[in-house]
Amino acid sequence: MSNPAGSNLAIAGRFPISVKWIQFRFAPVSVEYKLQHGSLQKGFIAVRDYGNFVRRLHGLSLPNLELDTLGEVNGCPIYRLVFGSVSHVKCKVLITAGLHGDEPAGPEAVLQFLHEYDAARYDNFRFLILPCINPFGYVHDTRENETGIDLNRVFEVDNPPEEARLVKSAVAGERFDFAIDFHEDWEAEGFYFYEGRKSENWVGPEVIKNVESVCPIDWDNDENDLPIADAVFRVDPAWGQEGFTPYLLAFHSDHVMICETPTRLPMRQRTAAHLKALETVTMHYNRATEQGAR
Ligand SMILES: [Zn+2]
Repeated sequence: MSNPAGSNLAIAGRFPISVKWIQFRFAPVSVEYKLQHGSLQKGFIAVRDYGNFVRRLHGLSLPNLELDTLGEVNGCPIYRLVFGSVSHVKCKVLITAGLHGDEPAGPEAVLQFLHEYDAARYDNFRFLILPCINPFGYVHDTRENETGIDLNRVFEVDNPPEEARLVKSAVAGERFDFAIDFHEDWEAEGFYFYEGRKSENWVGPEVIKNVESVCPIDWDNDENDLPIADAVFRVDPAWGQEGFTPYLLAFHSDHVMICETPTRLPMRQRTAAHLKALETVTMHYNRATEQGAR
């Protein structure tokens, strides 16, 4: 989704009251101003409108929703949502996206999931969602953050950058039944999937079977990957805990997954692939919960 920054002017003409309120409450315009003007000095160009992303988050209606920010990085807030069941939680889920800013189908898929959320389907679920971990990268279409750091390499290190520090604080003390992180791949021909699970009761083959109905699958094996099944690879212990997903597997969840969509395909197909994967995993847990076993 390439909404050019600066489209607030057009939006302000149509919705002057709500935009004024949002400017006061969340200051997305000043965020964009900072990003645009800070980035002009560094040669970056803003290609997406984080203010619009934030407005879509604030338009959500979800059961028992807590929507707040973890903090700000260079004036840009990183959002956190908690919602779902409160009294009979059987499945705690972490969904994350936008760690790499040039992989926009992840944040878009999260927004779609939230806007189309079917509470009846997720009666036993409680969700923690970080929909866009790297807002600077999201706005400027860069993999790294403003200082050129790949946030997927800095979780278990001394003095992590602010984005990683905020994410670690958001999951501190939490245990999730599963965690799923949405990514994209510029070189891939289709969708593929990483999975780490202590029980080795893999859900990946079912994910690939279902995603194939909405998106091509990349059947090629990278020589560095550890295959579990066709287009399903193991979260490799050799990655170390600097990576976000291995960090989660080490400290916060016995089951972690990474979805990779092919950036070269249309956005609608990529978001459909992420959502189909998420639906498959949640249904797997729904069945397992009903059967009293996972
Ligand atoms: Zn990525």
